Amino acid sequence: MRTNKSFTSYFISLYESLLAMYGRQAWWPADSPFEIMVGAILTQNTSWSNVEKALNKLKQTILLTPENVLLLSQDELEHCLKPAGFFRVKTQRLQFYCRWYLSQGAYNGLQQFTTLELRELLLHVHGIGQETADDILLYALSRPVFVIDAYTRRLLQRLQIINGNEKYEALRCLFENNLSKKVDLYNQFHALIVLHAKQRCRKTKPDCKNCKLTEMCFFTKST
Ligand code: SF4
Repeated sequence: MRTNKSFTSYFISLYESLLAMYGRQAWWPADSPFEIMVGAILTQNTSWSNVEKALNKLKQTILLTPENVLLLSQDELEHCLKPAGFFRVKTQRLQFYCRWYLSQGAYNGLQQFTTLELRELLLHVHGIGQETADDILLYALSRPVFVIDAYTRRLLQRLQIINGNEKYEALRCLFENNLSKKVDLYNQFHALIVLHAKQRCRKTKPDCKNCKLTEMCFFTKST
């Protein structure tokens, strides 16, 4: 990981460049915090378009509440979640999550905890890893936690901010220790990174000609 630069000014400049390219994002698209939580669980190892199909099926079947999810039979829930892939595992994870969520007093109950406590609690729920926990914390519970994903790693690696083998926590702390703890900033920054990685900084054939980050990017200079 690079250490010889002011990460605060670097990240702010990166954020402003992305914002200038794409504008503000309306993330996370959902009708309720609970829907965001469900989406965060379903998006593991699949594309968002598949998650949307599963969410739509679920919302056509029930009013999306944890109580209603738990009223569905195993077969019914699996049928709804099928488009999201790994549907048996995800059905089990969603059922676990709904039971845990209700046992904690649902949304209002969770809001009684500090962010640190909440993160620990979430990480102890079956099937909830760091990225899913942080998606839930930031986008469903409005806590200032920076989400790290494969898109973030790819971009930071191409900008030579990281080597690529850093642990999740090291990257999360890199952002959080160098940026103000603001929910809106983290929300927008992560959403912009995802959009940029999908639209221009693609895994193969990145569209560098139309990217405003060329000045700060080492990937273009090395190819
Ligand atoms: S210049 Fe190319 S590789 Fe670098 S951030 Fe932009 S799209 Fe990605």
